[in-house]
Amino acid sequence: MTGWDGLKSRSAGAYLGLAVGDAFGASVEFLTPREIRAQHGELRDIIGGGWLGLRKGQVTDDTEMSLALGRSILGSGGVEPPSVAEAFRAWMRSKPVDMGNTVLRGISRYRRTGETQVPESEQDAGNGACMRCLPVALACLGADEAVVAEANRRQSHVTHHNKLGDLGTLTVIRMVQRALLAGDRAELKSLADGLATAEARYRYDGKRMENPSGYIVDTLRAVFQALFATDSFESALIDVANRGGDSDTTGAILGMIAGALYGADAIPERWMSALDQEIGQACVEQAWALLSLSPYMNPTAADRPNFTREPGKTRRNFPDRRWPAD
Ligand SMILES: [Mg+2]
Repeated sequence: MTGWDGLKSRSAGAYLGLAVGDAFGASVEFLTPREIRAQHGELRDIIGGGWLGLRKGQVTDDTEMSLALGRSILGSGGVEPPSVAEAFRAWMRSKPVDMGNTVLRGISRYRRTGETQVPESEQDAGNGACMRCLPVALACLGADEAVVAEANRRQSHVTHHNKLGDLGTLTVIRMVQRALLAGDRAELKSLADGLATAEARYRYDGKRMENPSGYIVDTLRAVFQALFATDSFESALIDVANRGGDSDTTGAILGMIAGALYGADAIPERWMSALDQEIGQACVEQAWALLSLSPYMNPTAADRPNFTREPGKTRRNFPDRRWPAD
């Protein structure tokens, strides 16, 4: 698919891929590949359950925090840490089914102090900022690289402040953006390889990463290995989730990249119909709303939003751009 139809399919595919990957992987989170084989043979369907006791098709914090971040960006017209922190606090109040320790610590600190950036820490190299980065990729499509990097740091540092995490998450954002603009798997691989060259801990050409932990390096190694060893959304997601470990998040990150790469139509129907329908609808609506905010869709200087302006400035009105009629 080319042109508008292609971009619509890839942006919806990225968000639906994130949610489907989360719901799919969550059933086997914290299991080892051996335990998964004993219980499921090969996991191929969205079945719910898992250690969280999920309904079939229910998503977890990966998708919910992405939607919260997306709402914040749409509400404030940029990535403004006070708005992001408030969105995360509101989400925390909704009694989510799951929440990572670093996220809990960061939001609790915000509630206590009002500070919207946690101090830099070695402890913050978890995957919790990466799993929710998709709204930044969509809203900043076509923005200068420095703007994308700053927008990512702003959303990340509300809970996770770590250079290794920033670097890995920025690479995922760039991979999603390249795929949205019809980049192929080889182009995405060159971005992943660039990350591995810049930071050797991200090398993923060694041993097969099984049972990946929540450490961003383990997570992205598993995601890259699965993504580049397969040639479809379905085979890539099955590959990464059956590695177990932090499989809802490897599923979510792989899902957003593979969904952008292969498009919404590549997500198997059985997974789409299993996914919580309200969540699926929110994902598609947000994908298009965030994209219409992007510099890519607002190419002239006067229309370009500033995703990194200081908070509190008057919110600018965005032209009401709609997708051209099909
Ligand atoms: Mg999760």
